[in-house]
Amino acid sequence: MDAMFLSRSIFSYFTILVGAGFLTNCSPSPTPSVTRAPMITFQPATTPLVKRSASQLKRECGIEQQFMSESSRLRQQARSMKPLFITVHSTQNKRASARQHSTALLNERLRHNWHFTIDNYVSIQHIPLNETGRHADSGRTGDMFSIGIEMCEDRSQILYKTFDRTAKTCAWLMKEYDIPLRNVVPHYFWTTKNCPHVLMDNARPGYKWKWFLSRVDYYFRCINSNQSNL
Ligand SMILES: [Zn+2]
Repeated sequence: MDAMFLSRSIFSYFTILVGAGFLTNCSPSPTPSVTRAPMITFQPATTPLVKRSASQLKRECGIEQQFMSESSRLRQQARSMKPLFITVHSTQNKRASARQHSTALLNERLRHNWHFTIDNYVSIQHIPLNETGRHADSGRTGDMFSIGIEMCEDRSQILYKTFDRTAKTCAWLMKEYDIPLRNVVPHYFWTTKNCPHVLMDNARPGYKWKWFLSRVDYYFRCINSNQSNL
């Protein structure tokens, strides 16, 4: 472990410990805050970093763009957005892949929309990232300021691989939009809905969400430790 890595690890751990504690009020704040305490604390992964550039990590996400029509009802209602948060959901549908969700959005069969649907094989982007979706809190702060990610629960796939691709996508988005880790939140954060239920414990963020955040943090450190920027 070199000194630079050690100092970064200590700094990272310290910044996570500062502001420790659960959020006591889960209702959306009237204005988005980037200074509040994290929702939950976690132990950073000690796995050695596999350094790569942000663009390399983006390639690993396997992002495909299949944009909904600009004339679709949901996109007509959208506003322009500067993303300050990333909101993670899961589909609660064990019979549909990312491509099937994309088809449903393209055909306007759903009442809500979001930015990415992720499964074992792909991360499909449905709308531009500077445009609001409708996925978090009925048009309030969560929708107005966050990139929405739906994780598929297709029973023919392996959930862990979907979690991993989602963690990579979150880390890349953090880098791209300068979003702090504390603003990577579960849908629960906005409405206390049990979502993404596959990463909740007793219907709220706990051990599984901590694990997921540690993966996001790990991939973010992987791209930030890369000095060569290949
Ligand atoms: Zn949700």
